[in-house]
Amino acid sequence: MNDPVDVVVIGGGAAGLMCALTAGQRGRRVRVIEHANRVGKKILMSGGGRCNFTNTGTTAAHFISANPHFCKSALARFKPAQFIDMVERHGIGYH
Ligand SMILES: Cc1cc2nc3c(=O)[nH]c(=O)nc-3n(C[C@H](O)[C@H](O)[C@H](O)COP(=O)(O)OP(=O)(O)OC[C@H]3O[C@@H](n4cnc5c(N)ncnc54)[C@H](O)[C@@H]3O)c2cc1C
Repeated sequence: MNDPVDVVVIGGGAAGLMCALTAGQRGRRVRVIEHANRVGKKILMSGGGRCNFTNTGTTAAHFISANPHFCKSALARFKPAQFIDMVERHGIGYH
């Protein structure tokens, strides 16, 4: 716990874990701080317990935001197809 790290992610939910793994892949030493008894709890609850992981029909028009451009750039930089590619690279079955 006292080892030096480059990045501290507070919250091990879907967003925090994705952030942590991306930082790790870029060579950063990462610590995830989660106050629940395990990370990713809501991921396991999603999809009625079957784990939703993306939405192939999502568009910026589906989001309400004070900054409508944020989701446009976020969705353009990481598309649902890229998440599906990642799942397939790890050999995770899905439908
Ligand atoms: C029952 C249920 C079913 C759902 N089903 C779906 C679904 O089918 N499809 C869908 O898209 N979404 C679903 N959701 C929504 C789901 O929560 C989100 O899709 C996704 O989990 C949100 O991820 P997140 O990383 O933004 O937030 P979260 O998953 O909420 O992650 C935040 C994490 O930060 C931790 N945390 C917060 N504050 C602190 C702190 N101060 N210190 C340390 N840790 C902290 C929390 O414990 C949590 O683990 C569902 C949610 C619930 C509760």
